[in-house]
Amino acid sequence: MTAVKNVLVSGASIAGPALAHWLGRRGVRAVVLEKAPARRTGGYAIDLRGKAVDVAERMGVLDGVRAAGTEIAGARMVGADGRTRAALGTGLIAPEDRDLEILRGDLVTLLHEAAPDAEYRYGDSITALEDRGDRVAVEFASGAAEDFDLVVGADGLHSHTRALAFGPERPFRRFLQSYVSIATVPNRLGLDREAVLFNTPGRVAALYHTPRAAGAKALLLHRTGTETDIDRRSPAEQRAHLREVFAGTGWETDRILADFEDTDDFYFDSVTQIRMPTWSKGRVVLLGDAGYCPSPMSGQGTSLALVGAYVLAEELAARDEPEAALTAYERRMRPYAEANQAIAAPGLDFIAPATGFAIKARNALLKSGPLLRLLSRFDSKLSRAAEAIDLDAR
Ligand SMILES: Cc1cc2nc3c(=O)[nH]c(=O)nc-3n(C[C@H](O)[C@H](O)[C@H](O)COP(=O)(O)OP(=O)(O)OC[C@H]3O[C@@H](n4cnc5c(N)ncnc54)[C@H](O)[C@@H]3O)c2cc1C
Repeated sequence: MTAVKNVLVSGASIAGPALAHWLGRRGVRAVVLEKAPARRTGGYAIDLRGKAVDVAERMGVLDGVRAAGTEIAGARMVGADGRTRAALGTGLIAPEDRDLEILRGDLVTLLHEAAPDAEYRYGDSITALEDRGDRVAVEFASGAAEDFDLVVGADGLHSHTRALAFGPERPFRRFLQSYVSIATVPNRLGLDREAVLFNTPGRVAALYHTPRAAGAKALLLHRTGTETDIDRRSPAEQRAHLREVFAGTGWETDRILADFEDTDDFYFDSVTQIRMPTWSKGRVVLLGDAGYCPSPMSGQGTSLALVGAYVLAEELAARDEPEAALTAYERRMRPYAEANQAIAAPGLDFIAPATGFAIKARNALLKSGPLLRLLSRFDSKLSRAAEAIDLDAR
């Protein structure tokens, strides 16, 4: 049994509470730190696919996930006139019972409820980490200081724990040459449990509705040849950038741009992966997007976070030496993480084809028979990647 009895987890979104659940079940103390002042429950629709569905079942949250499903029954690709060019039903990418969709906030709530023994600390952040061999000395922004057996960075794509332990993000970033923004907007089209996508070359504007949230969610994604610092600028500059890219492109884009001006949950970021040669250093380890973000284009970030938490807790419980457990966690998780990172590029080609010809080809494929679709690169690669780990192979 492990010598790890007292763990600090930075980040209380998906990966953090999922790990706290497994640690709590084994009697390990988990302190979960979150820089936001309270639980963050907003957000977009996320998928749980393949082996992550099994992990949710083992956690006892699967019924809750199913009950909180977005109920989005399919997606339509439309032209500038709003007329449907192609449609996509559920169960295309993976069988329906292996592909669940839930709002991020609903999943966060379920995961928090599944880790009742964890000690959540909001509005605080790590300021310094010192690995002393047998423990990590941590200092907090609040002024407190405490020692832990292990520190886990579950603090997302722009992980602060990673910056403290491994240095700046830049060498680990893999920019997928696109930017994405999403926000809640009025449901002006009266959509009912469906998603609608409008493409122009290298751009997609999408709206979707779920009865689980007020209004509709709007997403704007565009490709770019060059990386700029727009993702680190102010929301006002980001909105201006979106107007430059999308204004006048057709369908609902101008209304989405106008709605983005006064929405209070505006999200904007680059589409980026994190690729690191190693996920741990001494007694500091990265989990979920912090260590191996696959980007929203893979649709597998949540699944990686859930499965990663399961594997990390299992390896910690099975080994005396934390370093050996962290090595085993990485050995088991890395092929799965890499397989899911590899589907982001075809995912981007699917959602935002780069040329007019590619948009037509994608729509033609969607109109073709199921067998042909199954053979298409994206579907089969994604469903294989989602299953690409044996949860019992210890
Ligand atoms: C637009 C969009 C669409 C997406 N769609 C999908 C999808 O369809 N399917 C899918 O599987 N995934 C999707 N994802 C990805 C998914 O949201 C992430 O992969 C997943 O949330 C990763 O969980 P995480 O817990 O590792 O990190 P995050 O969810 O990013 O959580 C990190 C947490 O750490 C906190 N934090 C940050 N800094 C600090 C600090 N210094 N101290 C303490 N706490 C801190 C943050 O506030 C946050 O609560 C999408 C992402 C985006 C942005």
